[in-house]
Amino acid sequence: MFVESSKNGKFARSGVLSVRGFNVTTPTFMPDGTRGAVKSLTPEMVQSTGVSVVLANTYHLHLMPGEDVVAKLGGLHAFTGQSLPLLTDSGGFQVFSLSHINKITEDGVTFKDPRTGDTVFLSPEKSIQIQMKLGGDMMVAFDDVVSLDKQGRERTLEAFERTHRWLERSIAEFNRLTEGMSDAEKPLLFGVVQGGLDKKLRKKSLEIVQNSSVGGIAIGGLSVGESTAEMHDMLEFLAPLYDDSPRPRFLLGVGDPRDLRKAIECGIDMLDCVLPTRNARHGSVWVTGEKKFNLKSDVHSMVNETIDPKCDCYTCKTGFSRGFLRHQFKVGEPLAGTMASIHNIRYLQRICEDSRTN
Ligand SMILES: [Zn+2]
Repeated sequence: MFVESSKNGKFARSGVLSVRGFNVTTPTFMPDGTRGAVKSLTPEMVQSTGVSVVLANTYHLHLMPGEDVVAKLGGLHAFTGQSLPLLTDSGGFQVFSLSHINKITEDGVTFKDPRTGDTVFLSPEKSIQIQMKLGGDMMVAFDDVVSLDKQGRERTLEAFERTHRWLERSIAEFNRLTEGMSDAEKPLLFGVVQGGLDKKLRKKSLEIVQNSSVGGIAIGGLSVGESTAEMHDMLEFLAPLYDDSPRPRFLLGVGDPRDLRKAIECGIDMLDCVLPTRNARHGSVWVTGEKKFNLKSDVHSMVNETIDPKCDCYTCKTGFSRGFLRHQFKVGEPLAGTMASIHNIRYLQRICEDSRTN
């Protein structure tokens, strides 16, 4: 499903991922359409940034409006109006980071819906069932997530072991639900590599995931509070350990430009993050040279220059000045966040595109 077209450096590579009739050129950045929409952007605006996959959050869509509603309204593509390939995550990360957890057992996780207070249960099987109903083109196996700083070694080990047992259950459920599907219909399932900052565990986890029948390798549990140096060190450690199987490698939740470059250098093909859009809504934009500034700042009030004269995004190409954008931010006009989001997503996607030819 993944054909490597060239090696760009020792581990960096570019390629084409074929899934459900889509051909995705990699490396690629995937903006987060958390609740079905990339915040404040129409599907056309998202496409104007050059990205080729959009991510949707299983956790949020399951809680509201529910996968049955999405399925009834034609599945994620019809529901969101997005014609680019869609990837759903497992919901695991949000369960562990946003919810009050009641209980984690071998069976699954019971947590409270933060909005209604209702008790919700998610398991590997349930996550795959929800993702199948949502109807994305790529999905992720449900894992047991631990945060680096809050939990001890014992919990890390427990989560590590359980993640791999849950991977087997995710694969079994995926196989059951996709039985009889043609290759053109079948979504692609990513298995998640965990192990925190422990290299021994990471190596073992990667071996287990690579030896399984998943269609893609996802690296989880990074960008969760460790230092930049620690994250880069882990990416470098993993780089020579990937096998030659034709599978894409997806780094979950990483979107700082420096981290993106490092990840691509270390053989990663796909990345997602809320950072470009979240930052943009607060006025923060990246410009050439990995610098960033805040458009809300008074220093921009009389500046007639675009965010980045070297940028080819819609916002910069059309010529919206920093002075105009600052004014829109100041008066609370949502258009400002939209314009800045387009710019930031394009900034990351351009790093991906440039890396293909370097
Ligand atoms: Zn721009």
